Amino acid sequence: MVRRVTIFGATGSIGQSTLDLIGRAPDRYRVVALTGGANVARLAADARRTRAEIAVTAQEDRLDELRDALAGSGIAAAAGPAALLEAAERPADWIMSAIVGAAGLAPGLAALRQGTTLALANKESLVTAGPLLMDTARAHGATVLPVDSEHSAVFQALTGEDPGAVERVIITASGGAFRDWPLEALAGATPEQAACHPNWDMGQRITIDSASMFNKSLELIETKEFFGISPDRIEVLVHPESLVHALVGYRDGGLMAHLGPPDMRHAIGYALNWPERGDVPVERLDLARIGSLTFRPPDEVRWPALRLAREVMQTGGLAGAAFNAAKEIALDGFIARRIGFQRMAGVVEEVLTRLSADGGLGIAPFDLDNVAQMDHLARVRAWEVIAGTDARGT
Ligand code: NAD
Ligand code: MG
Repeated sequence: MVRRVTIFGATGSIGQSTLDLIGRAPDRYRVVALTGGANVARLAADARRTRAEIAVTAQEDRLDELRDALAGSGIAAAAGPAALLEAAERPADWIMSAIVGAAGLAPGLAALRQGTTLALANKESLVTAGPLLMDTARAHGATVLPVDSEHSAVFQALTGEDPGAVERVIITASGGAFRDWPLEALAGATPEQAACHPNWDMGQRITIDSASMFNKSLELIETKEFFGISPDRIEVLVHPESLVHALVGYRDGGLMAHLGPPDMRHAIGYALNWPERGDVPVERLDLARIGSLTFRPPDEVRWPALRLAREVMQTGGLAGAAFNAAKEIALDGFIARRIGFQRMAGVVEEVLTRLSADGGLGIAPFDLDNVAQMDHLARVRAWEVIAGTDARGT
């Protein structure tokens, strides 16, 4: 049976890997919608190659450019946030959510409302509004499949097991670009240095988030929201080789580990073929050649983002929305060289402190309006904190 697929964030790292897999079995898929941002040329080329019904750029002012690039192809062109929502409403059997940042939330919710299968790479939507996302899925009979490598690994290690027998979940972290840097050197770290990952080839933002462990802090919250596991049962383990992605420990002491190469096409391919297993062209691990795997506990002085994530999980409610939004602005500030690498966690912490003093962070239940308001407020506060940061950016 031909499956109708839509890809949000098709021009990004996850989107391109998804297109790679789909392109290997073109007879099995029909592409409904592809979306992107500034990279209109790539979006149009992929839409033409896959004969998509529609291509959508998130940027309204690029509509003419997209129309020109698709001229004569018969493929519809659209732009802007409303067009993204319309694309999410087009009937599809499988939808990849791979926009980066909280911008992925609204299209993800719209996709779930059509009762489809949502392959969720956009962890920010779970951090921002996990209960809303999962409740929407349940209410519309939709399926959410994790596409983060750690969460796909947990999902696979849980398959066929009794969720009540789970004692703990361990997600691994490579440690990112500065894992072995002396602490004193971190103050001078540049965005270019932070954007070089030792193992994974990913988008710029998530790669920098790996160096700061903000990525892992988002993933802690993602684990709680996706699997409904209490925070005190979720651990982070530094694993420089990035071959064991997660482990699930059961009440009888058994620990089920998931191993795979650091190639997102495994997690994407798993979600694409689920509930079956299909052929996925990733490297096969030769453990005899690899020889040894190493693990160590995370250092919360080096990576304060992990402590912040624990506080956010404790608070609950809208704290995740505030945390993610403040993190996105702190990251913007670092990329723009307005603040130093280590200042990012300080900015996020200050925003959380200010917002919690104002009250309202932990309120629940919440809806999309509350989430959007908190997201906005946290961004405003984060810019205020950044504006008050001294010229050295520390
Ligand atoms: P990327 O930066 O390579 O691509 C992001 C995509 O989102 C692009 O298509 C871009 O045009 C689009 N986009 C950006 N801002 C947008 C906006 N405001 N509105 C609509 N579209 C917008 O990012 P990526 O590395 O592919 O990551 C995508 C998502 O997957 C993120 O949530 C990330 O955390 C998650 N993820 C990525 C990886 C990875 O290996 N890259 C692994 C695990 C999870
Ligand atoms: Mg991950």
